[in-house]
Amino acid sequence: MTTLADPTPGGRPGDVERAEALAEELAARDVHGIVLAYVDTAGVHRVKTVPTAKLPSAAAWGVGMSPVFDTFLANDHIVTTDVLGSPDGDLRLYPDLDLLTVLAAQPGWAWAPVDRITQDGTPHPGCSRTALRRIEERAALEHGLTFRAAIEVEWMLGLDSAPPGEFVPVTTAPAYGATRQVELGAFLADLLKACAAQELDVDQVHPEYAAGQFEISVGTADPVAAADRSALTRHTIRAVAGRHGLRVSFAPAVAATGVGNGGHVHLSAWRDGRNLHTGGDRRHGLTPDAEAFAAGVLARLPALLAVTAPSPASYLRLKPAQWAGVFTAWGLETRETALRLVPGTKGHRAEQANLEVKPIDLAANPYAALTCLIAAGLDGLAAGRSLPQETTGDPAALDPRTAAAREVRRLPASLSEAVAEFREDKVLRTALGPVLADAVTAVREGELDAVRGLDDERIAAAYRWTY
Ligand code: GLU
Ligand code: MG
Repeated sequence: MTTLADPTPGGRPGDVERAEALAEELAARDVHGIVLAYVDTAGVHRVKTVPTAKLPSAAAWGVGMSPVFDTFLANDHIVTTDVLGSPDGDLRLYPDLDLLTVLAAQPGWAWAPVDRITQDGTPHPGCSRTALRRIEERAALEHGLTFRAAIEVEWMLGLDSAPPGEFVPVTTAPAYGATRQVELGAFLADLLKACAAQELDVDQVHPEYAAGQFEISVGTADPVAAADRSALTRHTIRAVAGRHGLRVSFAPAVAATGVGNGGHVHLSAWRDGRNLHTGGDRRHGLTPDAEAFAAGVLARLPALLAVTAPSPASYLRLKPAQWAGVFTAWGLETRETALRLVPGTKGHRAEQANLEVKPIDLAANPYAALTCLIAAGLDGLAAGRSLPQETTGDPAALDPRTAAAREVRRLPASLSEAVAEFREDKVLRTALGPVLADAVTAVREGELDAVRGLDDERIAAAYRWTY
């Protein structure tokens, strides 16, 4: 369980002693540097690094970094809000020692996610990891709930020898094909080895649908740890691929057409050690709270997209018939609805049952995305919402009357539509806090400006290697 306590100047009780012991242990293991990792509003994973000997000082006083990164665009241009984007000021990055991990595929390095606080010791209102801790605290206090989450990671593997900027898939063997496992066997084995060494609890890794595409899924954790793990998983995939002379893209779409990379979220709400998504008296064994939670997420999906599908390239992926879930619909094990109810296997339901959210990709900041999904679910719970009729089969095939009766609508087909929905959404904005919420709208508008006039091919190219 990730600690919910904010960092404080001088260090939380015990942190500095712990960091001293860790630094010694890491030095003995030939670890020379620590990667301090976070994800910005645009969804770009950014870092600072410190020598291992500086870990105790980082645990006590943090490491400096400008707040300007909260309004960086994916192309590193900077936009501004009322509070963010100025060259003034400094923040302190505090490594979370619970998540400190020796990087198996980058000898000499360890990795830790950070929380960001101000020089005065107050939480930085732009810190999405802090926002996620806050909503977890609120769920526990107001509803007695905890959550388990996991984020699937899909990626395209390309040849490093491809012309600059181009994507040439490392394999064009069939989707889910055994040939791919054979062709990429050495890479996949090294990836599994690195994940095991880093205690990333891999459930499975498989060749995915598109040319050069693979997917890894890891076990569930509390939401903050799940977001941390997704960042670490990506860092690891990239490092292992680099050692095999391969290029990695987590972009929602490497090309204008075809199946993209998703980052589906699996989420379950628990109370008193009991999974609320099974054993209840509602449809498919949902408890009333789990149904209300799912209904809350369903109701806010159009606005949620501004956070879960934050890139102009996200909308190249979000198309019908690509299992990306572009309709406001839910169904039991239905892969074309935005929400897929996963009941789990008989005998294993108490652990496995969950809600899968599909219209989310890996351009999303996982902390902000989980914050908003939980906020939407909690709002559904507070309002006692219920789910409309479920969808089986392809929601695109529903006749207009049935679709209307089930409240099945196409999700926003562009980032600008999603941002317009987000602007009006008090629940999501409140969950992020006004500073982060304004950063979201400013950064999304910056992205839209950056691609104005570009056709789909050029939009895909603009973000192909960013995430
Ligand atoms: N690649 C699909 C997406 O973009 C997901 C495929 C799957 O269900 O794993 O979301
Ligand atoms: Mg997949």
